[in-house]
Amino acid sequence: MHPITFPPLLMEPSGIHPAEHSGSRGQPTYRLIAPRLETIETLAPAPHSLPRSESPRPPVQRLQLSIPEWFRTAARDLPWRRPECTPWGVLVSEIMLQQTPVVRVLPVWEQWMARWPDAAALAAEPAGEAVRAWGRLGYPRRALRLHAAAVAIQSEHDGRVPDTVQHLLSLPGIGSYTAAAVAAFAFGRREPVVDTNIRRVHARAVSGKALPAPTLTAAETRLANFLLPENAGESVQWNAGVMELGALVCTARSPKCGQCPVRQECAWLAAGSPPPDYVPKGQSWAGTDRQVRGAVLAVLRAAEHPVQRELFFAAVPGLDGSDGGQVRAALRRLHVLGVDESQLERALAGLLADGLAESVAGGLQLPA
Ligand code: SF4
Repeated sequence: MHPITFPPLLMEPSGIHPAEHSGSRGQPTYRLIAPRLETIETLAPAPHSLPRSESPRPPVQRLQLSIPEWFRTAARDLPWRRPECTPWGVLVSEIMLQQTPVVRVLPVWEQWMARWPDAAALAAEPAGEAVRAWGRLGYPRRALRLHAAAVAIQSEHDGRVPDTVQHLLSLPGIGSYTAAAVAAFAFGRREPVVDTNIRRVHARAVSGKALPAPTLTAAETRLANFLLPENAGESVQWNAGVMELGALVCTARSPKCGQCPVRQECAWLAAGSPPPDYVPKGQSWAGTDRQVRGAVLAVLRAAEHPVQRELFFAAVPGLDGSDGGQVRAALRRLHVLGVDESQLERALAGLLADGLAESVAGGLQLPA
């Protein structure tokens, strides 16, 4: 059997060879120690999965090879991944995808890019048009953020999406995740991208846990940096591959471990798939303020003119204006919720405070 060599980063401080540790099922267990990680991550080796003629690779390297290799054949053909997609298209997709599945984002992204193919086009229109076009993607404050970013790109960056994390972070509403994702996927930079899917794959495959911590920890960020391949091109493939693996195979509720390219290396599987150590909060919808806000915003999106405030509180027989049909339908959908007055007031106040609606002489409307 070939000796298993570990890079210095993976050596135990004591100098004990990893193969001397004994894991479950009589297999040796590697102890992966990333620099300054508070937690010790484990990886189960899979020496029998490798052809005898090949030198066994360290487990991290096997992950770094297996996932991009799988990605090359399994990746979905998404428009924002195509070579012709502009950095602006990547930025729009990253903001839309943050809390919304691909299948719902696709049509809105296509319409958005047809109408606003660059930041200048969006910046030239009122923010309310971005909110209107956001449709039912949810979390509509993202539309305002995207519009604000477009205005800054146009006024401060000559209409070009900045190509470094530092400059991307200077845009309004762009956080560390979006900045890293755009720098990586639009500009090929070596940046650790850490979204929900990537965190889940890291937690399972490397840390042996069913779920990552409820919120991103410093240790997770260090682990993401540690796992990132050195080569910029490979790091982009790695980020995209891990993300896709989390979206298609290592899903939150029912991971398809039998189809997973890293099942031989997966620490969670090797540990017997232990349950999560906390119960994730459910994303309830019915009866929530979010639902009411969504219904109110749907009325404003349907309206070409201000909507009288009273109309949100009680059904009325008719409405003036050419958009009356759509507005009436949206109001009906709001009224059938049977929302009490205080919740409706809260929803209206929240939308006004967030800048998603504005109060004018004739009532409420999308921001101008
Ligand atoms: S083997 Fe299962 S749990 Fe492990 S990374 Fe693959 S899908 Fe996720």
